[in-house]
Amino acid sequence: RLTGADAVVPAPLNLHYADYAIWQRRWLTGAVFDAQLTYWKDQLADAPPVLTLPSDRPRPATQSYRGGSHSFSLDAELTAGLTALSRATGATLFMTLEAAFAVLLGRMSRQPDVLIGTPIANRHRAEVEPLIGFFVNTLVLRNDLSGEPSFRELIQRTRNTALDAYAHQDLPFERLVDELQPERDLSRNPIFQVMFALHNTPSHERVLPDLTITDLAAERISAQFDIVLDVWEAPAGLKAVLEFATDLFDAATIQRMAGHFTTLLRAIVASPDTPVQQLPWLPTAERALILDTFNATAMPYPDQQTLAQLITAQVHRTPDAVAGRHRGASLAYADLNQRANVLAHHLIDLGVGRGDFVGVLDERGLDFLIGLVAILKAGAAFIPIDPGYPADRVQHMLSDSGVSTLLTRSAIATRCRAAEAGAELKHVVLFDAAAAESLDPAGRLQVHPREQWIDGDSSDPAVPGAAEDAAYMLYTSGSTGRPKGAIIRHNGAINHIYGQFRELKFHAGSAFLQSAPSSSDISVWQFLAPLLIGGRTVIADFEVVCEAPRLFELVRDEGITLFEFVPVVLKAFLDHAATLPEGGPLPALEYGMVTGEAVPVALINQWFEQYPRIPLANAYGPTEAADDICQALLTAPLPVDTPTVPIGRTLPNLTLYVLDDALALVPIGVPGEICVSGVGVGAGYWRNPEKTAAAFVPNPFAENGRGEVLYRTGDLGRWLPDGNLEMLGRLDQQVKLRGFRIELGEIESMIGQH
Ligand code: AMP
Ligand code: MG
Repeated sequence: RLTGADAVVPAPLNLHYADYAIWQRRWLTGAVFDAQLTYWKDQLADAPPVLTLPSDRPRPATQSYRGGSHSFSLDAELTAGLTALSRATGATLFMTLEAAFAVLLGRMSRQPDVLIGTPIANRHRAEVEPLIGFFVNTLVLRNDLSGEPSFRELIQRTRNTALDAYAHQDLPFERLVDELQPERDLSRNPIFQVMFALHNTPSHERVLPDLTITDLAAERISAQFDIVLDVWEAPAGLKAVLEFATDLFDAATIQRMAGHFTTLLRAIVASPDTPVQQLPWLPTAERALILDTFNATAMPYPDQQTLAQLITAQVHRTPDAVAGRHRGASLAYADLNQRANVLAHHLIDLGVGRGDFVGVLDERGLDFLIGLVAILKAGAAFIPIDPGYPADRVQHMLSDSGVSTLLTRSAIATRCRAAEAGAELKHVVLFDAAAAESLDPAGRLQVHPREQWIDGDSSDPAVPGAAEDAAYMLYTSGSTGRPKGAIIRHNGAINHIYGQFRELKFHAGSAFLQSAPSSSDISVWQFLAPLLIGGRTVIADFEVVCEAPRLFELVRDEGITLFEFVPVVLKAFLDHAATLPEGGPLPALEYGMVTGEAVPVALINQWFEQYPRIPLANAYGPTEAADDICQALLTAPLPVDTPTVPIGRTLPNLTLYVLDDALALVPIGVPGEICVSGVGVGAGYWRNPEKTAAAFVPNPFAENGRGEVLYRTGDLGRWLPDGNLEMLGRLDQQVKLRGFRIELGEIESMIGQH
């Protein structure tokens, strides 16, 4: 009990909290209530129900309210800058910080409409100031970041929003929620999930005789919201705490977020007239980590050679080894070489050479393999055309590519009506004899049946070639519009193969399964990679790939050492293996690979349950950049709560980026477009300057030999802190981060449709 000079005797109260409560209940009815409610209803009309921040874990169905916190401070200079900017723009420090926080959240979430809650004292009548009691209310500030405002413009928006909100601060938040009836969800706070508070009540020193009083920072272990930013004014600058839901975030993520916020605040002070989307927010160290450490991929490879040169060299090293197998038949390296040479000479005689494209329209088989090698040996680039495509698609590929020469088989050329394709087609070279029925009723084409060319020169043709020459062109399936021809150079293709050889260990006895449709990028490496190391490619017919028991038998009986499947095929393969004695052992298999689309975590884990000792690679990449650009080589199951299977680390001699719409780097953990530069990036789309210019752009990070051209994949992804990438969906589909999880059920239904 204090006596004497220290004693503070409060004056008797005229009003008690109960009086206030009764008054508020009577006052906030009728027209007063309606006016407030109308304002808030208008203000929150069509607001996004949730601010989807990129989290470390998917949002659990029920909020646990477990939390953590991270403290940081803004130095005196930055604080002074923010205060000066507030003064200059007629805003309060609260408004400046709130607007800046909204920019941070908007850029993290890629949402232009950001709702932030904020507590308000709600004691705007002098009579209630001395009362003890709960007056505080929560206001929602809706931040409109659309239309590329500068910070100076944004702060005017914030000022208006905040002043209007203050004028309607009496409606208790819980009444608002009752009235709006947003879809309730136990996983998150309704209306807003992030809160901001500026505590600017002056903290005065408390002095008691013989007592020293110090503030202890209490550790926060609960979190009502996803994130709360609390800021205090202190003599040395602003102090801040980020409180976060540990359901969603790791401490390291929030620590990085504090760094992004501080960097952003500095940029705001330095250039308040720059559009807020363009303000830098990546600290220097993080930039270096992403560009240099995550992308330290330099590796020597035969960068001055062509595929034809490398294959020919391998033929002379291992002439008797098996290069290809199909339906039990073997093709030795020497035979492959001899037959490819004969065909190459014929192509050369027809005028084919460097800079030309030659189509191959045939079922996958040993002739197909010979055809690919022959085209390369003639110095030209191949266009594989899957005869399973509808005829009009085949014709589109023939006309669009403008090939003058096509390798094919009579029945297939007839069925696909190849003769009706583009006017530029002149020569049809057949792997077989001409059929009785002419494939060219109009007699426009020169048809070269097998017997016409098969006895030709079988020596290695001396064709000059350069590593930058086109090696092949693939028509991308293209979810929208007509298929486009993506051109890949020899050095890009060779780099991809050698990059894979570094990740996965190969040897002369390696047996690759050739299971992918011939028009896909996967097929190119399945056909050609083994030929650079003395291994063999084992071609599986489409019907076999579609039937898990037959596929399994082929893999086992051919001693396949590596296969690469899309998830739906891998799932069927594993389900079948599980029915076999001892789970279907595959003693020869060294690696599994999965690619092509998002891979469910459960599928990875099923793999390791059945084949615990065989590594499984998740490979990711676009056709336009020579197939895979990153890869996760997994050797153990993933924790079941892993949101997505990582697509791994950058493959050699490439640089990967995660960029925003202005092609600036976004921080670790933040979604953006996956882009790539380096030797793998192809030569663009054939005869399509518009689409080429849109996807192949000048690389803003070209210094340090990172490549002049940047290819934009159109995929949404993000860096994980360990340098692995995560793929989140297509940019144009804006797959929600949280919702991105494929269940095995979906895969099963896909198999059903198949
Ligand atoms: P394509 O050019 O036909 O090989 O298709 C490449 C596209 O397939 C990529 O841009 C991704 O959208 C998707 N994709 C390929 N591999 C993966 C993977 N491992 N995980 C997720 N998506 C993938
Ligand atoms: Mg691929």
